[in-house]
Amino acid sequence: MNIITDIKEMQETAIKLKKQDKSIGFVPTMGYLHIGHKELILNARKTNDIVIVSIFVNPLQFGINEDLDKYPRNICADTQLCESINVDFLFIPDTSSLTQNLLMQIQPSRLDQYLCGASRPGHFTGVCTIVAKLFNITLPDTAYFGKKDIQQLKIIEQMVMDLNIPVRIIPVETVREHDGLAYSSRNSYLTQKERGIATIVPDVINLITQQIKSHLGREEILNNALTFIDNEKLALVNYIEIVDEKTLAPTDDFKQNIVIAVAIYIGNTKLIDNRLIKYT
Ligand code: AMP
Repeated sequence: MNIITDIKEMQETAIKLKKQDKSIGFVPTMGYLHIGHKELILNARKTNDIVIVSIFVNPLQFGINEDLDKYPRNICADTQLCESINVDFLFIPDTSSLTQNLLMQIQPSRLDQYLCGASRPGHFTGVCTIVAKLFNITLPDTAYFGKKDIQQLKIIEQMVMDLNIPVRIIPVETVREHDGLAYSSRNSYLTQKERGIATIVPDVINLITQQIKSHLGREEILNNALTFIDNEKLALVNYIEIVDEKTLAPTDDFKQNIVIAVAIYIGNTKLIDNRLIKYT
C-alpha cells in the first residue's frame, strides 16, 4: 500500500492510472476507521482495479463549538486496517494544503435545510467543497458513502448530478454493533455507562417504525418518541424527524418512501442514525 500526503502526487498518480485504463474506487473518511468504514472499502475492493481511501478531518465541516480538536485520530491503526484489506493508496493530505486560500466553495441548497443541516450552518458546504476537491484529486469512477449519514449521501448525489461530476456514488448499508448501535468514530467518546444507554438511538427508531406501521399520525408518533427519550436522563434530543426520502422535508404522508432520522446527545456525544421505510 502506498501512503501519499502530497496533493499533486496523488493527482498525478490518479491521472497515470486513468491513462492505464484502471478503474478507481474511492472511499473518503475522517479516519479512526471502524467496521462501517471497512464495509465501504470492501465494497470498493470488489469492483475496482484500484482502491483509494482518504483520511482527512475536514475543518470546514465543523462549527466553532464542535469537536474538531478532540476528534479521535489513530493513523497507525488506520494504516494497518487499510493494508490488511488491500487498499492501494491511502491519501492523507495535511489540513492546510486542502483548505488554505479557498475563495470558492460549493453550497448545497434545499437538501441542507433540514436535519443536521438545520443545526449545523455551513456544515454541508464544508462537506461538498472538500468532497469535490477530493474527487478532482483522486479521479474516481465510483465513490462509496454510508447510508448512516443519509443527508450527506443525498447531498453528494445531488452535487454530482447538478455539477455533472463523472463519479458514480454507491450507497452502503449502515453497519451496526450486536445491539443495534451504528458504528461511529464518535462512539469512542462514550463512557461505559453512556454506551450502555446508547441503544436508545436504534430503539427509538424501532418505536417510530412500529407506530408508523400501526397507522398512528405524525404528531402522536413524534410526541411518543420524545417522551421515550425524555425518560432517559443522559439522553437529549437534537432532532427526531420523519422526512420525505427525496426532499428530506418533514412529512406526514406515510404513503411515500420516508426516512426516520434522529440525532440524540448521549451525554456530550451527538449520535445520528436513520432508517428508510419504503412504501409498498
Ligand atoms: P466519517 O469518517 O465518519 O466521515 O465516515 C466516512 C464514511 O463512512 C461516510 O460515508 C459514512 O457515512 C460512512 N460510515 C460511517 N459509519 C458507518 C457505518 N456504521 N456503516 C456504514 N458506513 C458508515
